[in-house]
Amino acid sequence: MITEVLNDVSDVIFPSQCLGCAEILYPHSRHLFCPACKEKIKFITGSLCPVCGTIFLDSPAESHLCGNCIENKTYFSCARAVFSCETIILDVIHQFKYGNNISVGAMLASFMADFSFPDVDFSDYSLIIPVPLHIKRLRERGFNQSLILARALAKKWQIPVNFSLLKRHKFTLTQTGLHKIERKQNIKGAFEVSDKKLIAGKNVILVDDVYTTGATINECAKTLIKAGAQKVTVLTLARVLQS
Ligand SMILES: [Zn+2]
Ligand SMILES: [Zn+2]
Repeated sequence: MITEVLNDVSDVIFPSQCLGCAEILYPHSRHLFCPACKEKIKFITGSLCPVCGTIFLDSPAESHLCGNCIENKTYFSCARAVFSCETIILDVIHQFKYGNNISVGAMLASFMADFSFPDVDFSDYSLIIPVPLHIKRLRERGFNQSLILARALAKKWQIPVNFSLLKRHKFTLTQTGLHKIERKQNIKGAFEVSDKKLIAGKNVILVDDVYTTGATINECAKTLIKAGAQKVTVLTLARVLQS
């Protein structure tokens, strides 16, 4: 009863709004978007690369390894995302990351935590690690967007999250605007594990907001595997379709 009253009050003060166009959604809505905006969003489904999760848009055939995963060593065993990177999703992630909009982040995080990742058996994992920011970047932004997502997953699946085990000790230029090979070079050697005992033999879920070329994520996974992790699976909110 009290909870219902509180929900009503909070709906008046903070009515649910569509994250895409700010249209007011009906009270207690668990949706992030109005029907019109939802139409523009693609969830990741269909035939995909079993390792990196890229979608084969024009291939109705069953899933198979993509060229990138055949040519390059991937240190994570599987990467999966909720959304494909449509403009509307990128705008919302932008509001969260650069607009300092933590309430949008909390909504995205809870949506991600409730999303069923069919290829992931969460009972196999004993640790969740967010992709870390360098301390300088963390001070600028004030929060790590990946940690907000990781915490929601940790709460939902009852898996501990550790945000200080994987550290980003090298300050790098933003990956935005760099080509695939430049991204790989830029991020090389950027991470370290602070206490190898805490990672040894563990199956880890690595969390980030966006999978772009996979360079940052693969470097994190490499650092975790070299430090003794048994398996690394990557979960992101969104994914660029072709890597
Ligand atoms: Zn809308
Ligand atoms: Zn692949």
